[in-house]
Amino acid sequence: MSNKQFSLIRNFVNTSSRARQCITCGSVATQEALFDVGNGMSIIERYCDLCIKNVNSAR
Ligand SMILES: [Zn+2]
Repeated sequence: MSNKQFSLIRNFVNTSSRARQCITCGSVATQEALFDVGNGMSIIERYCDLCIKNVNSAR
């Protein structure tokens, strides 16, 4: 995934009954980041408030 391009960050609204976790620290996720990985594909990674700042600063 080294060539993925950061796309955008948006507020993550959990609409399911299952809690979504931050992929970095495992806390409850409140934000999600979209990455363009080419070929019209994108992936979503979810983060908590703290970890999303690291994603932002790495743009
Ligand atoms: Zn986190």
